[in-house]
Amino acid sequence: CMSQPHRQTRARILLTNLRDNAKQLKSYIDQQPMLGVIKADGYGHGATEVAHAITDYVEKYAVAFIDEAIALRGSGIDKPIVILQGVYSTEDWLLCAEQQFEPVIHNAQQIDCLSEITSEANRVNVWLKQDSGMHRLGFFADDVEGAVGQLRAHALINQIVLMTHFAEADNPESPLTAIQLERFYAVLHAVRDKIDGVSVANSAFMLGDDVLDAMGLTKWFRAGIALYGQNPSQADLTDNVELKPTMALEAPVIALRIIQPGETVGYGSRWRAQRESRIATVAIGYADGYPRSLPDGTPMIINGQVGCLVGRISMDMITVDVTDIEGIELGDNVELWGEQLPIQVIADQARTITYELFAQVTRRVPRVYE
Ligand code: PLP
Repeated sequence: CMSQPHRQTRARILLTNLRDNAKQLKSYIDQQPMLGVIKADGYGHGATEVAHAITDYVEKYAVAFIDEAIALRGSGIDKPIVILQGVYSTEDWLLCAEQQFEPVIHNAQQIDCLSEITSEANRVNVWLKQDSGMHRLGFFADDVEGAVGQLRAHALINQIVLMTHFAEADNPESPLTAIQLERFYAVLHAVRDKIDGVSVANSAFMLGDDVLDAMGLTKWFRAGIALYGQNPSQADLTDNVELKPTMALEAPVIALRIIQPGETVGYGSRWRAQRESRIATVAIGYADGYPRSLPDGTPMIINGQVGCLVGRISMDMITVDVTDIEGIELGDNVELWGEQLPIQVIADQARTITYELFAQVTRRVPRVYE
């Protein structure tokens, strides 16, 4: 982050809660192996700090692409790192061997890149991805067995984990998850004796009942958003996990004024006062990642009371109706989301998902680790 000794706006990262979430998830899956998904800079929390916080509860990490993994190695993270988008060249494969990166193999070209490699001192674990219905990455069912054969035949390849990804694990009503599982089982039966593990569960799937029969193989869970305290599922969380918030986005009140009925606030005069109103200006805007799409009435917490967004969000500031808030003063701290106001509330208001809000907090907001 940019050094900002003068600006009070910040994202407090609650590492104790992150660690506790990881601990609860690990216990919920009976200590089975778990990947900590820390792509996109640890869902905006800071990948290195998250990696350290959860290290006791995950066997490996996962990131989107090789450069994210290299950055983690550079900051002293030494567990294996799964590369969810895989490798694209011979050099990428050799880097995986050297750095203990474990690529997801999702298309034939990635396997073709192996042809120039004869042998290596360090072998590579791979995650072979089946496209069971998400239709984004992976081999169709008919092509998985051939890919397993090719990988098994190569001296560089060590363990193979068969994986797939659900499109609707967050929706317990969806018939697609069962269809995807069925397609996965069909392949698993065929390759069972040639692979070393299986992995299907993202957070939403892992928080449900564990219905995957791994046929005696090691089962890997891939925990992302749940580490960051969010239940992605439309189903209720079980009583077994009480996930805690991991990021509190905060900014100070930098101006206060009283405006008369009929006066408007902000660009485009979107909001008009119906009564004499006290307006607080708070030092956070869309350039910090507070979404410009948020409507009038979006809540925030000031001195333990609820203030409402009024008027359009500017680049560096927002305006808040604090008429009914007692004792408000310049410099008071405002929680945009966090411990008192769940980020899910703001995601709903912005018609997006918590993942996007986390990932969009920009680099100019200092992360303060607690
Ligand atoms: N597995 C794969 C292949 C992913 O791409 C992701 C994230 O998008 C995850 C697991 C983690 O998902 P979630 O954050 O919903 O747990």
